[in-house]
Amino acid sequence: PYISKNRPIRRLDESAQNRIAAGEVVERPASAVKELAENSLDAGARRIEIAIADGGRTLIRVADDGHGIPEAELALALERHATSKTDGADLLDIRSFGFRGEALPSIGAVSRLVLTSRTEAADAAWTLRCDAGRLGAPAPAALARGTVVEARDLFHATPARLKFLRTDRAETQAVADMVRRLAMAAPEVGFVLRDLSEGGAKASPEGRVLFRADPEPGEPRHARRLRLARVMGREFTDNALEIEAEREGLRLSGLAGLPTYSRGAAVAQFLFVNGRPVRDKLLTGALRAAYMDVLHSGRHPAAALYLECDPQLVDVNVHPAKTEVRFREPGVARGLLVSALRHALAEGGHRASSTVGE
Ligand code: ADP
Ligand code: MG
Repeated sequence: PYISKNRPIRRLDESAQNRIAAGEVVERPASAVKELAENSLDAGARRIEIAIADGGRTLIRVADDGHGIPEAELALALERHATSKTDGADLLDIRSFGFRGEALPSIGAVSRLVLTSRTEAADAAWTLRCDAGRLGAPAPAALARGTVVEARDLFHATPARLKFLRTDRAETQAVADMVRRLAMAAPEVGFVLRDLSEGGAKASPEGRVLFRADPEPGEPRHARRLRLARVMGREFTDNALEIEAEREGLRLSGLAGLPTYSRGAAVAQFLFVNGRPVRDKLLTGALRAAYMDVLHSGRHPAAALYLECDPQLVDVNVHPAKTEVRFREPGVARGLLVSALRHALAEGGHRASSTVGE
């Protein structure tokens, strides 16, 4: 055990603070991609282009056409606890993906980061480097409106974390899963994910396209359906029930797969709370409970479900990665999911329930 040798208390320098925070916010390349793409969505981007190489270890690049960052704020964007999205007064009234001001400084602390941005008002773009937490000076750059964040050699500044990464293949897979989830959350936004690894680039200098979804047209419900078909497949949307229900300020919508379209593993379950992809035990438990009577054990429903409510009714500030949420009324959320799905299955799923015994 650690035994204090009566050493004086010292304040960790900012670089150490950032590397510690980075450990919580960016666990692996997929989490860095998530943070950067969420920044793009918060900036009102209509197109987000993501490129990675070697599972994201050597390169992660996220480019968007959002509102950009003014030159005067570039350095601040890389400073910890600096955000344009909240004044901190009410951390239960969060309507953006970000609000902690931790992603850019965290990624900058553990990689070689280059932030390039241009606002509509500016007549030039500016770029700023941050290498393992050390900031450079802003310099002029060439870029149309928007922002590009490039992070090379992720975790080179924290070799221990580097050792925890899985194979390039597994990390690439995790990045692709993350991009799909974000694409399901924002159907009106176009996404491209490219693999620029030496091997993957052979086919073309543009790299290999791992995922592409153009902005979906039409009103939101229609656009979402098109996006779900693109990401989860037409077979899913053709074999799913429309869900639409409301209870005590919580609104649920989305698609729930017919029992006949079930899977051997819980791989096709996507949950969103106020537009944010989440992994939530309460909600996945409710999903399982709703299908209990119509699915054999070992079978798992496919579903893409979206819960919407006043931000005050749900706390997203549970974990630095913001993938966990806490409902003020967990019972209401669970009850809404279970009853809406059961109702839909009973109404629209005669076909489904008659094949349960097969
Ligand atoms: P947060 O998203 O929690 O505010 P970040 O560290 O992710 O913290 O980003 C810090 C700030 O930098 C944001 O509040 C935003 O003002 C700006 N920013 C980051 N990425 C972008 C982007 N792609 N487009 C426009 N502004 C951005
Ligand atoms: Mg952010």
